Amino acid sequence: MLLQMIKFPRRFCSVIGRYNSIAVRSFATTTGSINFSLNEVQREFRELARNFSREVIAPNAAHHDKTGEYPTEIIKKAWELGLVNTHIPQEYGGVGLGVLDASLVTEELAWGCTGIQTAIEANGLAEAPLIVAGNKEQNKKYLGRMTEEPLMAAYCVTEPGAGSDVAGLSTRAEKKGDKWVINGQKMWITNGGKANWYFVLARTDPNARPGSAFTGFIVDADTPGITIGRKEINMGQRASDTRGISFENVVVPEENLLGVVGKGFKIAMSAFDITRPLIAAAAVGLARRALEEATKYSLERRTMGKPIFEHQSIAFILADMAIGIESARNTVWKAGWMHDQGEKNSFYASIAKALASDVAVNSANMAVQVFGGNGFNTEYPVEKLYRDSKIFQIYEGTSQIQRLIISRYLADNISDI
Ligand SMILES: Cc1cc2nc3c(=O)[nH]c(=O)nc-3n(C[C@H](O)[C@H](O)[C@H](O)COP(=O)(O)OP(=O)(O)OC[C@H]3O[C@@H](n4cnc5c(N)ncnc54)[C@H](O)[C@@H]3O)c2cc1C
Repeated sequence: MLLQMIKFPRRFCSVIGRYNSIAVRSFATTTGSINFSLNEVQREFRELARNFSREVIAPNAAHHDKTGEYPTEIIKKAWELGLVNTHIPQEYGGVGLGVLDASLVTEELAWGCTGIQTAIEANGLAEAPLIVAGNKEQNKKYLGRMTEEPLMAAYCVTEPGAGSDVAGLSTRAEKKGDKWVINGQKMWITNGGKANWYFVLARTDPNARPGSAFTGFIVDADTPGITIGRKEINMGQRASDTRGISFENVVVPEENLLGVVGKGFKIAMSAFDITRPLIAAAAVGLARRALEEATKYSLERRTMGKPIFEHQSIAFILADMAIGIESARNTVWKAGWMHDQGEKNSFYASIAKALASDVAVNSANMAVQVFGGNGFNTEYPVEKLYRDSKIFQIYEGTSQIQRLIISRYLADNISDI
């Protein structure tokens, strides 16, 4: 069935059409009530992503983990099905999924392999600043082209000397005539070596406070002066392409300035309101895979005359994993739902990201434990999950930074919690 769909590019369009006509916007149609049931179209999206993950991503996960090979062919297939760039608004040719709906897709793709899922979905992080602040021409040109062919894009904020401390970025953009000239170095850029264009955050005022010191730019990857570093060899998510990128006298036209001069910090951070719930959804997908593998194994592996599942200490590990997954998914849905309602969700996005990341790391750790010695071996799937899980506590804001955001919010909003 899935292979059939792959032969007919954009078969997904029928789902998209119904998405439009039924006018689903996550739970927007259930105004005034709390509703955890998915509608028919949401279930179809989830099913499509689930089938793709089981039939295409999962069988290839070990290969890409071992070789570090970028999953170009898988991305193309995902793109043909409409599983890439899911946030791009329909006016620019995209599916225009809300965050909650996209989280259903992300969780499924991540179940198959979070390295491949990250490679597929890192586009979303680069696209989010345009969705937040791009004008019609910029969005038509840069978001539009993502829907015409399977291109990649990257979000370039982190530098060798500044990750959590975004206000400490040193990449500069200076106005020269009617152009901007960017100089500096970015680090840990996902899809860095594969991107067709970059979102770049650069300092445009050396003396101003963060709120007015930085500006966002859209930079074509083939602009002279850009040098792409080697693919980094990471602990996990090895299918994903992570690189340093240097910018030396990179000339960017004025029309590629995003929003207004000095407002880049806010734009770059606002992108996380869309993407952090999705990173959290991916963490839930990984945790779910860990639980599934551990449960199946525990029903087969026997010690002291019975399946290890029947030892209470193992059964309770599985129960704790399920508790974590269910709680984390609920925070993902809440954070996504709030964004889709047009409400500020940063606090909830950070809660989802922090909780789901910890759940992913703990679940993968416990899955290794349930597998015993086999869990430590590459012949079994859980050691990869353990390696893959760690990055959730680091990228898109470390778990400490999420807790900083959450605690700062408490100071002003404690009576509304
Ligand atoms: C695989 C991978 C992919 C990535 N993809 C991208 C990408 O596509 N684009 C991009 O721009 N960046 C990307 N990043 C960068 C990532 O977002 C940063 O690594 C992350 O934000 C942490 O920054 P840092 O590495 O500089 O650590 P640091 O900021 O140096 O932090 C080191 C430690 O100190 C803690 N810490 C720092 N400040 C505080 C504080 N104020 N309070 C409490 N604790 C603190 C941190 O939590 C951490 O534990 C990626 C990183 C990796 C590893």
